[in-house]
Amino acid sequence: MFSKKIGIDLGTANSLVYLAGEGVVLNEPTVVAVTLEDKRVVAVGSEAKDMLGRTPGNIVASRPMKDGVIADYQITEAMLAYFINKVAGKRRVFKPDVMVCVPSGCTQVERRAVVDATLAAGARAVYLIEEPLAAAIGAQIPIANPSGNLIVDSGGGSTEAAVISMGGVVAHASVRMSGNKLDEIIATYIRKKYNLIIGERTAEEVKIHLGDALPDDKAKEKSMEVRGRDAFSSLPRVSSVTVDEVNKAISPILNQMISAIKNVLEQTPPELAADIVDKGIVLSGGSALLKNLDKLVTRQIGVAAVIAEDPMLCVVRGTGVALENLELYKKSIKSDRAY
Ligand code: ADP
Ligand code: MG
Repeated sequence: MFSKKIGIDLGTANSLVYLAGEGVVLNEPTVVAVTLEDKRVVAVGSEAKDMLGRTPGNIVASRPMKDGVIADYQITEAMLAYFINKVAGKRRVFKPDVMVCVPSGCTQVERRAVVDATLAAGARAVYLIEEPLAAAIGAQIPIANPSGNLIVDSGGGSTEAAVISMGGVVAHASVRMSGNKLDEIIATYIRKKYNLIIGERTAEEVKIHLGDALPDDKAKEKSMEVRGRDAFSSLPRVSSVTVDEVNKAISPILNQMISAIKNVLEQTPPELAADIVDKGIVLSGGSALLKNLDKLVTRQIGVAAVIAEDPMLCVVRGTGVALENLELYKKSIKSDRAY
């Protein structure tokens, strides 16, 4: 076998690449910097993310994925080509086989766009797998069994809850509420309360350091200094923000994220629901790392929730493992194979 096998998780926030036989080899923010004039790619990934909001007039840093689907086709293709070249080598003799995951419930047109962009980026064959299946495989859930599993993947753009049995998605619900919305609401809160304007990266830092879905009284008091620009004087300034404040700001978004889980459970056949009560809920995606989110889910749903091992790597690992074991997972892989 001469063709390399590559699994790609094209996330709204982060894109990861898995090389069969090796594991996860690339993990970059889904950001591309291009020139305004001729859309030439200047930087991809963390280098481009550092340019967000800081670029000179002739360069724009953009996020080509929105809510898990391609928002800017050209830029996505350029990014895929960059990833494939980096992993398979530019002067390759054999084109690689590539498996990409797509959100459950994305349209035929959206799937086609992923296939076309991946082929144009240099793949020989393209396979698609639904994201919850990939997340479950990556979380080491035995998806082929005739037994219900509930996996919740919460990344940057959306929270996807899916019940899986016998290698397929039985029920699925999603809300466009996740990490980015948490950042946004934190920024809005700080602006309203302290007249301090903060950037999206600062808001994310506040979330990671102070975000807590279910803080106890002691944790609530923890605080940090947040840097930004005064809304009136426009001068740089610092304010102190506490865990309790951040918790109050993010709670409405967390409740909406959890409503996706309630939603999927309403659609779940009773036998599978019974399995889920026994086995619990598995959380994946970067937002699963929000402190105590597992505890909040457990409390609100009444079923134990656990965070998958390496939650940010589940989807890409599952995508790669499915490609390494095409025969085993063929029921879960859609026949969007194209040449
Ligand atoms: P996507 O699949 O949409 O690309 P990821 O699964 O890579 O998203 O998750 C990215 C999200 O996870 C971002 O919103 C980021 O802020 C969030 N995140 C990463 N680490 C943490 C953390 N420790 N606490 C809370 N959120 C986190
Ligand atoms: Mg993801």
